Amino acid sequence: MPRSPKGRARATVERLAAEYPGTAAELCELRFENPFQLLVATILSAQTTDVRVNMVTPRLFAAYPDAKSLAAAELGAVEEIIRSTGFFRAKARSLVGMARALFERFDGEVPSAMEDLVTIPGVGRKTANVVRSVAFGLPGFAVDTHVGRLCRRLGLTEATDPDRVEADVNRLVPPPEWGALSLRLILHGRRVCTARAPRCDRCVLADFCPSAFTIGAVAAGARRRSGRASGPAGSTQSSSGSARRQRPTIAPGDGDGIEASSLEDASKG
Ligand code: SF4
Repeated sequence: MPRSPKGRARATVERLAAEYPGTAAELCELRFENPFQLLVATILSAQTTDVRVNMVTPRLFAAYPDAKSLAAAELGAVEEIIRSTGFFRAKARSLVGMARALFERFDGEVPSAMEDLVTIPGVGRKTANVVRSVAFGLPGFAVDTHVGRLCRRLGLTEATDPDRVEADVNRLVPPPEWGALSLRLILHGRRVCTARAPRCDRCVLADFCPSAFTIGAVAAGARRRSGRASGPAGSTQSSSGSARRQRPTIAPGDGDGIEASSLEDASKG
C-alpha cells in the first residue's frame, strides 16, 4: 500500500479514474456550450447544486448569449432569472461585472490564463481552475469543500486554506491530471466520502486511506463491533501498533454544498 503522500496521490488518481471515467469536460455536471456559458454557470453554482444551475441557465443564455448582451443587462432582470439559485443579488452583480470585464478588457472572450481570470469580478482561483480545465482542457485543480475534505482525509495535505490545498496537490499530481482529479474528488465526496458519514466500506480508496473507518457512523459501528470505547476519531491504532496521526474528522469549512469563495469573489469590482 502506498505510504507516502505522493504514492497515495498516484493511487487516488488511478482508482478514481477507473471509478469515474471521462475527461474533465465529460465529468462536469454543469451544462454549457462555450467558455462564456461555463463561466456563467460556475459563478451561479456557489452554494447551490449543479441541477439547480442547469434549471436556470437555458433561460439566462437565451436572454444573454454573450458578454456584450450580459454587460448591458439590467441587474433586476438578471436577478429575476437566477433568483432560485440563492444569493441572487450578489451573483447578478458578479455576472454583469464579469461580462463588462470580458467586453472591456478581453474583446468579449473568456481568457484562459489564471492571472487574467482572477482579475474578473466573481472569479476566484476555484472558478478559474474549473474554466481552465473544463472549457480549455488546461491544467487546473479546483478546490471546493469536497476536494479539500477528501485531500485532507487522504493525507495529501493538512491545509484548510483552498489555495494551499491546491498548491500541495499540484506538487503531488502531474498537471494533465489536475482537472479530472478535482471533478472525480467532487463526485466521490458527494457519493461516498460525505462530510459526516463517509461510506468507507464501499470506498475504492479504503485500503490506503489514512482516515478509513475513523469518521462518523462507520467508526462508531466499528468501535461497537470491536468492543472499544468511543474516542476521538483518528486516534485508533494501526495494525502495526503505531499510533495513527490525529486529524480532525470534520475540518473547518467542511459541509456539503457550502462554498462561499465565489460569493466572496462577488465583492470584487
Ligand atoms: S476510505 Fe473513507 S475516509 Fe477515506 S476516502 Fe474513502 S470514504 Fe473517505
